[in-house]
Amino acid sequence: MIEFSVLGSGSKGNSAFLRINGYSFLFDCGLSCKQIELRLDRIGVNPSSIDAVFLSHEHDDHIRSIHTFSKRYKVPVITSEKTFKAGRLDEKGIKDTVFVESGKIFSQFKGVDIFFMPISHDAADPVGFVVYSGGIKFGLVTDLGYATELVSHELKDCNALVVEANHDPELLKLSNYPWELKQRIASRKGHLSNGDCAKLVERVVSDKTSYIVLAHLSEENNNPDIALMSVFRAIKGMPVSVDVAKQAEPTPIYSLDTVGSL
Ligand SMILES: [Zn+2]
Ligand SMILES: [Zn+2]
Repeated sequence: MIEFSVLGSGSKGNSAFLRINGYSFLFDCGLSCKQIELRLDRIGVNPSSIDAVFLSHEHDDHIRSIHTFSKRYKVPVITSEKTFKAGRLDEKGIKDTVFVESGKIFSQFKGVDIFFMPISHDAADPVGFVVYSGGIKFGLVTDLGYATELVSHELKDCNALVVEANHDPELLKLSNYPWELKQRIASRKGHLSNGDCAKLVERVVSDKTSYIVLAHLSEENNNPDIALMSVFRAIKGMPVSVDVAKQAEPTPIYSLDTVGSL
């Protein structure tokens, strides 16, 4: 059985919880430590039970409280060396650090394989994650300018998928953002639009997929209803639960049985 919840998602901070094969993980630590504690408590998880934190890239909205959380709960941090350096993380300020090259599978937790999937984003060595255990495949990918062939291939048939639906291109065009920022967001190293998210979903969704959670929505340049509509069209009536992760509060805990799900 796996359980997961997106604790918070958006440009002000990101973190997701996953329990799989008896292990508990956080993916990114971009909310304040206090908020992570509160939100874990809300979903009934004790922060001391976290076995590791995986970091996707060095932007502040993904690493903000990593030193505090790692020290306070004696949790190892697993990330690439380039991300570690680019985020100016301090080995002394962290319980333990394990470096994993992007493109490689991390398998030191028994029965769980975690693929560090390279993605296109303006960071040193950004990755999404694909987690395999007991016949279940869980994917998590945000902060990508576009979905490469590799991403579309690796996320195929995920039982549960957390995927970025960052902006609506029209709303972005009309927004008050400075031109350079608009260019950055819309670029191939920026963030995934609703339309590109829908195209990716269309390619990877299958009868094995139970949950899709849309994440990293822009509060200014998107609207949850528009994002949901694009993805509903992409799943073409398949019985998949589609939800939107919020910035200010955690999603419920979603769970999947590991037996007979493939
Ligand atoms: Zn981000
Ligand atoms: Zn980023």
